Amino acid sequence: MTDQPHVLIDSVSVVYTTASGGLQALERVDLAVRRGEFVSIIGPSGCGKSTLLRLVGGLQKPTAGRVLIDGEPPRQAQKRKQIGFVFQDPSLLPWRNVIDNVRLPLQLSRRSSIGASPPDPVALVDLVGLREFSRYYPHQLSGGMQQRVALARCLATAPSLLLMDEPFGALDEITRSAMRYELLRIWGSEAARRACSVLFVTHSVTEAVLLSDRIVVLSPRPGRVAGVLEVDLPRPRSEAMELEPEFLDYVRRLRSLLRQQVAA
Ligand code: ADP
Ligand code: MG
Repeated sequence: MTDQPHVLIDSVSVVYTTASGGLQALERVDLAVRRGEFVSIIGPSGCGKSTLLRLVGGLQKPTAGRVLIDGEPPRQAQKRKQIGFVFQDPSLLPWRNVIDNVRLPLQLSRRSSIGASPPDPVALVDLVGLREFSRYYPHQLSGGMQQRVALARCLATAPSLLLMDEPFGALDEITRSAMRYELLRIWGSEAARRACSVLFVTHSVTEAVLLSDRIVVLSPRPGRVAGVLEVDLPRPRSEAMELEPEFLDYVRRLRSLLRQQVAA
């Protein structure tokens, strides 16, 4: 039981049916995520990263293979509100202010489907650093602030698995860098509470190295696992660390893995 992975992706393939025939998005992808692990997925555009995340979130089914979360189909974990999603677009409700956006998942679900005591939405707004903006509406917030609201909202059901699909992709470089550390801080506090695992899709090499315990490189479509990089850097990670030779060496190795994919 203890060595059961939190997420098991077992020989998963996806073929989409299109007007011009079958399109293979993923080919026999294997991956096991340990409880509390931060795993990034990186690979060229169109290689099936979002597809993979949707499979894990139970939003679609594989053509072949299986995905298990705690040994169960993702739909079960989804029903028990164990999965939190954050996409590139924060998708906030424009007519609800910050705190009411964060409250939404709790209002939509029966309490019984959530763990004994879901986090207090006010505390979540605090956690993402928006206490003073609690009554603001989405259009009154910057992109980075909106993404913080999306993060707080996804934590409202106390998920044990976060699925993040290029969550900082639409942000400027400075905000993006700040959000990475913000995410690490928040994940650190969540991880301490209940070993929250993260599957994080990104295009950014630095971002992947900074955040991850492990990085999975996908090949161009059909996406296959082309390489895995263990990032053995101490936590908490810091901005100073980004300049150290060890960090830069991981960046170099990851770039080289990605280059091999493009050249292949
Ligand atoms: P990524 O997130 O890595 O950019 P996606 O998972 O979005 O890749 O897409 C992988 C491939 O599958 C792409 O070629 C895309 O066009 C195709 N695809 C994604 N969703 C669908 C769909 N619903 N129907 C048909 N093809 C799709
Ligand atoms: Mg995508």
